[in-house]
Amino acid sequence: MINQNRLIKTFMEYVQIDSETKNERRVAERIIKDLKDLGFEVYTDRAGEKLNSNGNNVYCFIPGSNESDAMMFSAHMDTVTPGNGIAPYIDDDYIKSKGDTILGGDDKAGITAIIEALKTIKENNLPHRPIEIVFTICEEGGLNGVKEVEFSKLTAKKGIVLDSGGSPSHIITEAPGQTTIYANVIGKPSHAGASPENGISAIMVAAEAVENMKLLRIDSETTANIGTFKAVGATNIVSPLVEIVAEARSRSTEKLKNQTDHMIKCLQDACDKYGAKLEYNVEYCYYSYILDHEDEHIKLIESVCEKIGLEVKKIPSGGGSDANIFNQNGIKAVNIGAGMELAHTTDEHLNIKDFINASKVVLEIMTM
Ligand SMILES: [Zn+2]
Repeated sequence: MINQNRLIKTFMEYVQIDSETKNERRVAERIIKDLKDLGFEVYTDRAGEKLNSNGNNVYCFIPGSNESDAMMFSAHMDTVTPGNGIAPYIDDDYIKSKGDTILGGDDKAGITAIIEALKTIKENNLPHRPIEIVFTICEEGGLNGVKEVEFSKLTAKKGIVLDSGGSPSHIITEAPGQTTIYANVIGKPSHAGASPENGISAIMVAAEAVENMKLLRIDSETTANIGTFKAVGATNIVSPLVEIVAEARSRSTEKLKNQTDHMIKCLQDACDKYGAKLEYNVEYCYYSYILDHEDEHIKLIESVCEKIGLEVKKIPSGGGSDANIFNQNGIKAVNIGAGMELAHTTDEHLNIKDFINASKVVLEIMTM
């Protein structure tokens, strides 16, 4: 029932509207227009002011015409860079982008799949459950838009986020939480030739701290990495400062905390040993979510995918999405595929078949 040509056409139009993170205003305006043209009321919050973005989160609340529970559907409007001047084209079974940009299927595929399902409902006058739509800004680089969502406006207790790769039948039932550690190791400068014994080398202290850290793959659900280790100075000065930015991820909140504490302890111990000073700040970016494979929400999505003829895979993710924040705020949300492949690279492309199926799955669940 989905209008496949219209789905693809709308997608091509959306990706041609530049919307790198913090520049979502124009694409939001287009989406709002499309929702209003369908006769729906749209609400926008003021998240952009807090996040220094020109866009805001977009909400659409559609009363149900049957007795089913409300369901939230969500996708994000911003893209990573390089995302300006995208020129999409169809290459066989895929939509690709010309030139040196991403495609922006992450996450305009998710948005378009939802919009097309709504258009189909409207033109066929299909009975449907109460539907709550949330299109967020500033997802990339920290899930910041969704953190500003006005959750009191939402009544749905279950939701589906379309922001993953592959088929919609690839259901992300687990996603890790993440912390970011910002640390400065402060040594003591001294002339490296005349009086090195009076200095404390921040580089040596920080290097020992990192050497003592368990990093990279910690266990099946926990990882950690140093992203920045920065010290620039003259060779004749004992290094006074190292800046470190690191992350930890885990699908276990306890392990996430333990790993983060461990990394801080390694830094603190090395500083104490040599008399250096440690300044640090830990940002809990988001918490993990884990849904039972037998959970009724998962079962519902599974049954719909099977009905459409898709093979269901319930998979853990290595990264967070808006779904993490929805779960943190009492909405049982899972992330499913919307057809994108190689997201966050200039080779990003969209698998048209998976994309169409994503819209079919959304329509099916909306009309249950
Ligand atoms: Zn995304």
